[in-house]
Amino acid sequence: MNSLLCKIGERLFPSIYWRTHNHALHLTFDDGPNPEVTPQVLDVLATRNARATFFLVGKNVQKYSDLTRRIASEGHAVGNHTFTHPLLFFRSRRFQLDEVVRADEVIEEAIGTKPVWFRPPYGYFDSRTLSVAKQTEHRLVFWDVDSQDYRDATGAAIARRVLKKAETGSILLLHDNYATKNKIVDILNLLFDGLEERGIRLNPRLP
Ligand SMILES: [Zn+2]
Repeated sequence: MNSLLCKIGERLFPSIYWRTHNHALHLTFDDGPNPEVTPQVLDVLATRNARATFFLVGKNVQKYSDLTRRIASEGHAVGNHTFTHPLLFFRSRRFQLDEVVRADEVIEEAIGTKPVWFRPPYGYFDSRTLSVAKQTEHRLVFWDVDSQDYRDATGAAIARRVLKKAETGSILLLHDNYATKNKIVDILNLLFDGLEERGIRLNPRLP
């Protein structure tokens, strides 16, 4: 999401988090849990003593419930990223509600708590999405810095790009899916080094 869209979004939809007023940066990981990528992410976060929010896809949670429990047991927050990761935009309210509720159910079954946070796939939403989020008592969380880690670029190039845009209060979008399998460790290590150099702290939890 570019910064202009983010600023317009903040005005139009004040109930959505695009960034925070915290004096820290928030790391968020979408699309997991993934058996080949999420453990790599968790290992780096543990080494760096950092916490993040993972927006999980319900069908992956159902398949990898042990990994879901590992995410929660290592102190990370878990958010809802729908059950099958569809585009919600222009789908019926019933369809959208079903996607959110099913993901809530499998997450709660795995870790014992229902997520507070919800992020629609691809960042697309409509008025029904907002209404479903309200009904299911979720806060919507987007991002102001898209790492574009799914692109065909090296980990170093991605980290450099993020470090140029990241600032205090930023919500950073990353992915633990197959697109980042071979570079997420590089990205994270370079990112942690760069943030430390710039004196930007990480915040363990979204407010
Ligand atoms: Zn996603």
